[in-house]
Amino acid sequence: MIVEVIVDVAAYPIDRPFDYVVPGHLEDLVERGSRVHVPFGNRKVQGFITNIKRETEVDRSKLKEVQSIIDVEPVITEELLKLSKWMTKKTLCYEIDALQVMLPAALRASYKKNIKILDPTQLEKEILELFGRKEVLPYEAFEKSGMLKMMKKHLIEGSLELENVIKQQARVKTVTKYTLVDDKDFVVGQLNKLTKQAVKQKELIEWLLAQEKTSFTMQELIQAANVSNATVNTLINKKILVKEQEEVYREITSLDYQDRDNHVQLTVEQETALSHITKAQNNEENTTFLLHGITGSGKTEIYLHAIEKSIAEGKQAIMLVPEISLTPQMTRRFKLRFGDQVAVMHSGLSTGEKFDEWRKIWRGEVMVVVGARSAVFAPFKNLGVIILDEEHESSYKQEDTPRYHARDVAIWRSEFHKCPVILGSATPSLESYARASKGVYTLLSLSMRAKEQALPTVNIVDMRAELKSGNRSMFSLPLADAIREKLEMKEQIVLFLNKRGFSSFVLCRDCGTVVECDQCDISLTYHREGERLKCHYCGHEEPVPQECPECQSEHIRFFGTGTQKVEEEITKLFPYARVLRMDVDTTRTKGSHERILKKFGDGEADILLGTQMIAKGLDFPNITLVGVLNADTTLHIADFRAAEKTFQLMTQVSGRAGRHDKEGVVYIQTYTPEHYAIEYSKDQLYEPFYHNEMIMRKQYEYPPFYFVTLVQVTHENVLLAAEYAKLATDWLRDNLSSTSMVIGPTASAISKIQNRYRYQCLIKYKKEPLLIEKLQQLIKIYRTEWIKKGVVLTVDLDPSTIL
Ligand code: ADP
Ligand code: ZN
Ligand code: ZN
Repeated sequence: MIVEVIVDVAAYPIDRPFDYVVPGHLEDLVERGSRVHVPFGNRKVQGFITNIKRETEVDRSKLKEVQSIIDVEPVITEELLKLSKWMTKKTLCYEIDALQVMLPAALRASYKKNIKILDPTQLEKEILELFGRKEVLPYEAFEKSGMLKMMKKHLIEGSLELENVIKQQARVKTVTKYTLVDDKDFVVGQLNKLTKQAVKQKELIEWLLAQEKTSFTMQELIQAANVSNATVNTLINKKILVKEQEEVYREITSLDYQDRDNHVQLTVEQETALSHITKAQNNEENTTFLLHGITGSGKTEIYLHAIEKSIAEGKQAIMLVPEISLTPQMTRRFKLRFGDQVAVMHSGLSTGEKFDEWRKIWRGEVMVVVGARSAVFAPFKNLGVIILDEEHESSYKQEDTPRYHARDVAIWRSEFHKCPVILGSATPSLESYARASKGVYTLLSLSMRAKEQALPTVNIVDMRAELKSGNRSMFSLPLADAIREKLEMKEQIVLFLNKRGFSSFVLCRDCGTVVECDQCDISLTYHREGERLKCHYCGHEEPVPQECPECQSEHIRFFGTGTQKVEEEITKLFPYARVLRMDVDTTRTKGSHERILKKFGDGEADILLGTQMIAKGLDFPNITLVGVLNADTTLHIADFRAAEKTFQLMTQVSGRAGRHDKEGVVYIQTYTPEHYAIEYSKDQLYEPFYHNEMIMRKQYEYPPFYFVTLVQVTHENVLLAAEYAKLATDWLRDNLSSTSMVIGPTASAISKIQNRYRYQCLIKYKKEPLLIEKLQQLIKIYRTEWIKKGVVLTVDLDPSTIL
């Protein structure tokens, strides 16, 4: 028997499976989608079996043997094997990268397998002998004794069980349980044999016999039965109690789901939108819906209904949300509706917790996954709907290889499963809305808020005028007045700081020098704690300098607006206000995000001050005022999506106010009030914004009118970086069709990261049938030649930013 294996050697220039011979004792274990260890060169590497066959073109005497099998059952389904092939081509990655990204991190590490007896009556004598007095054996014991085939048979029928023990981080969590043996006559016999002195043993046995359940923790026995550790151990020695490890899932949230979720009566608009989705589900049509609904219009309610229908038909559902909106509030809503049928996956979980959630999906124990980007690979076998909330969010695009977009993967899977995809947003990406306008996606609209609350009143404040009238504070007069008023009324306020990593920097007032990272072309960010400067790209840290590194002036100080600075100013202006701050500094520890929100929700603070993190998902009835301190920061980035991102952000933030009974009001402070991205966000006027932005995109030849591919070249030496970028650009210009525009090479907007200089070239095209093939050729040149010179070349076929 021969298997094709995709090996984990990503630097190898050839990306294809290699053939290996399966030794006889492993023949019954190999399956497509399982991982194996194989020799490669003089190393032992991991790989995935992607095919099993009888014949091979390769000279048999040259073939090497599979060394061992890592997974007794496949970890990649047949569907995901197909998907990985597609991703490899679509994102120009190695197949091994596509396969790895589908697995939880815990499975990327090595793990140990144990085999445990569940039902000894079904086992052959040889197996029982192998176990001897033990209940658990390492997998290798079966391998050595040549009993793998028998073992697998029992795993499938359920008399043996496989336990994965992850080395280091992610062990399967177990609790020790003490179980009363089934044979009651034996127990009573032992009870009668006890001597008079054995009072405690007698008490414990009698207590055990009187209980309804038969399995207990040590703590339960000691407390409830009022006996000691020693007594329990005596009963174990007498084989009255059996000590066992019971596998448990880590409890990932401490919320209680006691409160009932009340089903709402859908509005007419919601009903209409849902009916289209339901129809697609009934007819098993893989329609992609774009659900465009203003903030608070009840999109989530529609998702819940579509998932409910899916479950009712025995099908599973994937619910994707951007990482930052995976708030406890959001997951809670799903847990309330679907209880134990939900797995939740986000970056806040430990490796072990993620592994537990993944196993629930893999074993078919849950029907829904709510998660960030990578949850799109959930190994469900029968999907009924896939949903992406806030579909415009750039976090759906992976910025590292494999550079996939969750939206594309979702649509691919929907074709495979014949189920609909719902892309939901108040501010759809231009690409999606353009596709919906052309009928590629089906547009569903919600134009009113579900509870018929008015949209908040949005006021745009011109900060230039404030400055002219002598107000140098970061709070305009109208916003300061509004804050004062709301504080008096005991209503809650959200203040939003539109922050890019480098918005608080240290500047010399004499010569204008901004302190930058030595290794990256980016100014260092000032952190109040410990008076330190940090680089958000490479992690470099240093103390704030006492004098200017250029002119030695002492007039060097912190500038710009960090959240800490704003907090100080709030304290000065409104000394009685209770402020909660939410940013990277205050949310570093696990669960801190939830704690801050809970505090705010419980009314323990008047003002919640934060960055991008608070723009989404917040839904508190008492928030009636939202203030955006600086709308412009995202507007002036050298990126063709700058206006789109600003519009989306302003709309999202405004949507936090007045979501319930009380009316909301919003103040947006800006130095460019006349910009259409700001003007249209005032009344959430998506369509006018869309048309205006489309004109700009057409004029400057950007998506969705043109496709854009970004080729980036980096090197430690600036000259070599420029040289190879030119080689790549020239090669593309020579090899692509003349209708494609190859622009560059240019230095990237961030010209250096981690001591590597960055150059880039942009390919803009409407139709380029040669693109994939030519890029593959370029990558091959790079992998066989340039890589040896220390060059790194990356290709992104759908960059979410071009910085
Ligand atoms: P979106 O996801 O579009 O922002 P949500 O689904 O979160 O909107 O709905 C906003 C609020 O309106 C929520 O508090 C939700 O419970 C409520 N809601 C949604 N649909 C209805 C409805 N049909 N009737 C009453 N309240 C609703
Ligand atoms: Zn200076
Ligand atoms: Zn740096």
